[in-house]
Amino acid sequence: MPLFKSPTPGVVIFGTSILSMVDGMGAFKNNALNILEENGIKNIKPNGLYSQQKFLNSLKVIYEKLGDVTIKVIGMKIPEKVQLPPSIESTEQVLNSIDRIYSMNHKGGECGSYKFTKTGKDEGIMVVDTPYPCSFDMGLIEAFMNKFREDGSITFIKHFSEECRMKGASTCEYKVKW
Ligand SMILES: [Zn+2]
Repeated sequence: MPLFKSPTPGVVIFGTSILSMVDGMGAFKNNALNILEENGIKNIKPNGLYSQQKFLNSLKVIYEKLGDVTIKVIGMKIPEKVQLPPSIESTEQVLNSIDRIYSMNHKGGECGSYKFTKTGKDEGIMVVDTPYPCSFDMGLIEAFMNKFREDGSITFIKHFSEECRMKGASTCEYKVKW
């Protein structure tokens, strides 16, 4: 799936995710709000719905200006405000649910996927096919895992596939351990 391009025109996302992005900009919140407004998103309300493409356009500007580290921090902020179904109680369950959580937060059509396969007791592979940048998704997955991290365990995510969406591949694969 091409990066920064909504696969279906008309896909919308909830304001909560956009506000998490603004939060992720820390001291540069006003920059984030300006960039969003320049791309047609303003007066953001948590339950409002906004064009995914406009959000992706804003993320692209931030990526080009501030780079991967900022994009990863923004990705890490997203899970903070996401409402998780109460049935999710473990890292493995949350990894299996990111795809559904993602679909619940995007409406209006096909918008990519997060496919998790368990490969060992506390490890697996996540294959991601979304229009969001690689570092954003790595931050997002890591933060979802951290929500259920047990004392003494370490959350680990590493780019596993040689191919990367940032270099034109259709998916990125990540190795995860917890
Ligand atoms: Zn990648």
